[in-house]
Amino acid sequence: MRVVSTPLSAEQVRAEVETWIAENWNPDITVAEWWQRMATAGYSSPMLPPELGGKGYTRDLAIVVSQTIGAKGCVAAPTGLGLMLAAPTIAAHGRAEQHRRFIPPILDGTDSWCQLFSEPGAGSDLAGLGTKAIKDGDEYVITGQKVWTSGGHYADWGMLIARTDPDVPKHQGITYFAIDMHQPGILVRPLREMTGRAMFNEVFLDEARVPAEYIIGGLNNGWAVANTTLMVERASLGSAGGGGGGMALPGSVAKQLTRRVGDFVGASGEGGGGGSLGPGTVKSFTKLARANGKIDDPVVRQGLAELQTLVSVNLWNIARARSGQGRTGVEGNLAKMLLTHTLRRAREIGNGIIGADGMLVGRDTASGGSIQELTIFSPGPSIYGGTDQIQRNIVGERGLGLPKEPGDPRKVPYRDLPKNG
Ligand SMILES: Cc1cc2nc3c(=O)[nH]c(=O)nc-3n(C[C@H](O)[C@H](O)[C@H](O)COP(=O)(O)OP(=O)(O)OC[C@H]3O[C@@H](n4cnc5c(N)ncnc54)[C@H](O)[C@@H]3O)c2cc1C
Repeated sequence: MRVVSTPLSAEQVRAEVETWIAENWNPDITVAEWWQRMATAGYSSPMLPPELGGKGYTRDLAIVVSQTIGAKGCVAAPTGLGLMLAAPTIAAHGRAEQHRRFIPPILDGTDSWCQLFSEPGAGSDLAGLGTKAIKDGDEYVITGQKVWTSGGHYADWGMLIARTDPDVPKHQGITYFAIDMHQPGILVRPLREMTGRAMFNEVFLDEARVPAEYIIGGLNNGWAVANTTLMVERASLGSAGGGGGGMALPGSVAKQLTRRVGDFVGASGEGGGGGSLGPGTVKSFTKLARANGKIDDPVVRQGLAELQTLVSVNLWNIARARSGQGRTGVEGNLAKMLLTHTLRRAREIGNGIIGADGMLVGRDTASGGSIQELTIFSPGPSIYGGTDQIQRNIVGERGLGLPKEPGDPRKVPYRDLPKNG
């Protein structure tokens, strides 16, 4: 008899995760032990295929997993860019031995990663990057500067893109490396943001070394590999996944692995949670407006209805993209743009509700500080992962087939291009 496997429903996945939590969650074990249990069960990164430590789930089902873990008040899978970006990129482009070397310590939180892409002269024009990688025996020697490196101060590894051939057009001479951040040639200096935190850094690479065997996806093929990272980043940001019942930081530097996991329940991690937005946001705004007597204000009412509409439209867009119907290839870009627009509107509508209290920050202020947190964080998402303008360029050129800008730099060797500074 032939057994036909049918895809799991969201309800089945939720029930399975609830059963697993009942058997495995214990606030008195360490963060490391909890993440080890999650990794063994395939719940750290459920979208990865089972042979790489995942469950082979769609993004929808992966979100059901993280939402269920959050709803049960358990600490989420390791936060940061290792799980979000490095694991799926290495899964897609790495060799089998690189899968074995890098993915398991990401899933159980042993290693923390950062993204060494942007440079002072190369952000939107990422392919114009100038950090050099020069071969020296079995290693590459890296010299240059990166900037806006989120989590660089507690990273064990970096997703590095560097120029390995300046004599070919800029997109063709870039290589993607996994670089060990703990070495004398790497200096990480924190940059303080207006949130008051120093979430990102500038990173100076002065003859840092990386073995040739840590090239991901082949020599001079880094642009294609980096695009996988960027596509995953946009899709993850746009879908604004599932909340956790608490967050902890992975890796050897943050020193949270040996602590009691129950102590991280309710913790919002380094980002402060200012970028999260969903149906719960509209509910909490409505509750606030009821509590402070603004619920009858027609402008506030209109704002709440608009926010509900934007959040719903984003969810429907994502659902349509996942159904595969009417695919344009730029759904991730559209979802990210809609999210950044919604964040800005949420900032304005939220401040309309709390009024002058919006000038005070802290958990003991109006909205528990969440609207203020959202306000000062709100410009970030429209910049990282590619600015709104760059998303529009992509939608225009790749989605609508509009002509590219004249004087295509793709044909000129990098060495001959005009440079900043
Ligand atoms: C909170 C945060 C976290 C970040 N984390 C990381 C990280 O971990 N790792 C990392 O590598 N980077 C990170 N970044 C950097 C981010 O990716 C860059 O800031 C972004 O790509 C923009 O580059 P830029 O800052 O150099 O701006 P620029 O590229 O100089 O752009 C300046 C302005 O010009 C516009 N512009 C530029 N080119 C065009 C064009 N062709 N058409 C239309 N408009 C254009 C842009 O939209 C923007 O408004 C982070 C940024 C932020 C804000």
